[in-house]
Formats: sequence, structure tokens, C-alpha cells
Amino acid sequence: MAPINSDESIHSFIIRRMILFGVLNKPRDLQGVVSPGGVVYGLPTLNNKQRACIRDIDISQLAEIIDTNAPYLGADSKVRVQLAKLVLHNENVEKSNRDSGNRTQLRYCIECVKLQLRSVGYSYFKTDWLHTAECSVHKTRLHHVSQLWHNCCGKRANFLDNLMSAFTGYCAKCHIDGRGFSSEVFIDERNRAQYFYLRNDKPAFSEEKNRLLLEKTAELVRKHKLRLAQNRKSLR
Ligand SMILES: [Zn+2]
Ligand SMILES: [Zn+2]
Repeated sequence: MAPINSDESIHSFIIRRMILFGVLNKPRDLQGVVSPGGVVYGLPTLNNKQRACIRDIDISQLAEIIDTNAPYLGADSKVRVQLAKLVLHNENVEKSNRDSGNRTQLRYCIECVKLQLRSVGYSYFKTDWLHTAECSVHKTRLHHVSQLWHNCCGKRANFLDNLMSAFTGYCAKCHIDGRGFSSEVFIDERNRAQYFYLRNDKPAFSEEKNRLLLEKTAELVRKHKLRLAQNRKSLR
């Protein structure tokens, strides 16, 4: 079964699995993973059909994937398992998992995709691309995956056409290669909110740890000052 790459996003992994299982035929099939407009959330929430594609992955493996391949780095194992359950059993998490600050547009680097095609024989979306508008390797602007007019043939592509074009390098509409179909991510004041950069969530346990540490330090400083004051008094 296709393994997840270390730098691949969890969304990408599920998309690839869906292609493998033959259940990705129209943009709506991706519901919960990517919207028909190309919006992704920090974590996907899967329906039955999508869940079936990752049936070989148990909850602790999925928790590991969330730790490595989603913008939830650093959570402790308990939190990770909770998150894995949210991905698999999404009944009551729609609101908490879908707030507007936790969404961004899917995008990719053309040069990285070319490298992936040469080295592993297929392409995938990097977790890194959810955090930035530029490729950290090639220092170039990332490209949209959305519903748009392809520049090569002027044909309107839906999200899935554009996704397949991005993956293969060939326009899914006119089959011309050379990536003439794609367009760079363009961010201005109007659409800035569309491109929130997903940040890694702070692990819940360390906030508490941090607070205790600060309290302890403050206590030590207070005691130290007190001792100094007492010493000064006794010296007088
Ligand atoms: Zn790149
Ligand atoms: Zn075309």
C-alpha cells in the first residue's frame, strides 16, 4: 500500500489513496479533504468512502501521521490520538475543526513536482506548502490548484481537472504538457484572508508545563529577593 512521504501533507496522502481506490471521480468526492474551490483545513474529516481508503492504517499510525504530516506538530500522544479520532469520526467536530483561521488554499511548487515525478514516479503535496506562498527549496511562487481557466487552451477546469494537471504536468483538458495551464498564487488585500498560512498548533500539554515553569521561576525569584532583603537587614 502506498506509504506517506515524510514531507507529504495528510490531505495529499488521502487524495492519492482515493485515486488508488478509484473513488476520486468528481470534485465533490473530496468533501472534507479539499473543497471544490481548493480550500483545505488543518485536518481533514473523512466520510465512509474516504475512510475505507485508509483502512489498513490503525489509530496510532494515523496519530503519527498527524504528528508528522499535518500542521499539528508536537502534540503529545494523547492529543494526537484524539485528533486521529476527529479525522476518522467527524460527527461532532465540524465547528471546532473548521474555524476560518484554520483554512487555507491548496497550492504547489512546479519544480518540486517535477523532482517528485523523476525521483518517486508520482507527485504529491508537501505539508510545507500549507505554511507559505513560496517554495522554501526553489524560492519561487507556488501555483494554484483551483477551479480556473487553463491558460493553454482557455478551457474551464474544475478543481479535480486542475489537481490532475498539477500532478501530471499535462493539461487535463487539452493534454498539452509544459504546464501552460497553471497560474501563480496571487495574493492581494482582497484575497489575503483566503491564504492564511496554517501554523503548527502549540501542543496542549506544553502550555501547561510552560505556565508551571513560569510560576516556579517567579516563586524562586521572589524567595531570592526576600533572602537578599533579609541579608541586607541583618548586615545593617
Ligand atoms: Zn519547490
Ligand atoms: Zn489546456
